[in-house]
Amino acid sequence: MNEILRPREAVAKLNTYDPGHYEVDIDLSANENPYDLPADLKARITSAALEIPFNRYPDPLALELRAAIAAYHGLKTANVAIGNGGDELLMAILLAFGGPGRTAVTFEPTFVMYAILAALTGTDCLKFARDKQFALPGEARENIGSAADIVFVCSPNNPTGNLATEAEVVALLDGGFLVVVDEAYGEFSGVSAAGLLRSYSNLAVLKTFSKAFSLAGLRVGYLLGAPEIVADILKVKLPYNVNAFSQAAATALMENRRRFDGIIDEIRAERQRLFDAICGIDGLTPYFSRANFILVKSAVPAGDLWRNLLERSILVRYFERTPGLEDCLRITIGKPAENNAVIAALRELSEK
Ligand code: PMP
Repeated sequence: MNEILRPREAVAKLNTYDPGHYEVDIDLSANENPYDLPADLKARITSAALEIPFNRYPDPLALELRAAIAAYHGLKTANVAIGNGGDELLMAILLAFGGPGRTAVTFEPTFVMYAILAALTGTDCLKFARDKQFALPGEARENIGSAADIVFVCSPNNPTGNLATEAEVVALLDGGFLVVVDEAYGEFSGVSAAGLLRSYSNLAVLKTFSKAFSLAGLRVGYLLGAPEIVADILKVKLPYNVNAFSQAAATALMENRRRFDGIIDEIRAERQRLFDAICGIDGLTPYFSRANFILVKSAVPAGDLWRNLLERSILVRYFERTPGLEDCLRITIGKPAENNAVIAALRELSEK
């Protein structure tokens, strides 16, 4: 038998991404929207799919979808890139602007894919710790100096739920870096850095259909930025990265975007209800969140609490090996009945 070729070192060092998935009754672990698309909209999208020639490649430039997104944001098609989920665009950013000799900055704890994709693309990753309340560290921003090329700012931040302020984003933009503001959860905060695109050509705003718009299964994300940034992303993305069905579904969704307002409002109201309930449970401290999840600090070991919830068929996210989050769980906002179940379970466990 020939020896199997080993991967290059950067890949050998990586762990397979573990989304922490288990079959459970109540899954509050992945920050998805708890509601599928409204039934009539889903029916319209699936019946329209009968007209899509499946034997043909999709539009490699996704022009119709990009135009719809551009119109919504008051931008031009040339300001919009489409990805197979936001994750693919993060990869494209690092392929185009990172790589050997380039440095990316992250503010930890934050979305793990920035560091993973930096490692994969041979980009150095400079990690700065957030402060105790998970705000961006003031001095660290100054310390970045000229050592960085790309800065990732997740706002609201996954998994802590807090926003970066506009002043913080502007300070980074004024530093001249390519600043990627990841607004995967932006619709739940009502705040966006997209307005800064008029003044800054070194800004890229990442959005996704996976969260507020209930389309995680179809994998569509987008990036807003200067035409030069988008043109470079188009060079590195795979030619047919978003399939025809997903392009059509996301375009239909853009036309029906207002229909999600009520669902987003409900999730925000449930977030407040869950937050208030957790405040009243002994040994638990929730962090204020502008996203569709709440990070909760636990006085008892978070791993035990996570397992006890799992025994009740409730799955939340536990960050076993993430510095700064060892005593925390992240709970996605679910449907009211799911939130009631997690509140009841947490109360019962705190009384044990
Ligand atoms: N950014 C953040 C902060 C996220 O949490 C996620 C999803 N976990 C993404 C980007 C990517 O989402 P998707 O690939 O589903 O668009």
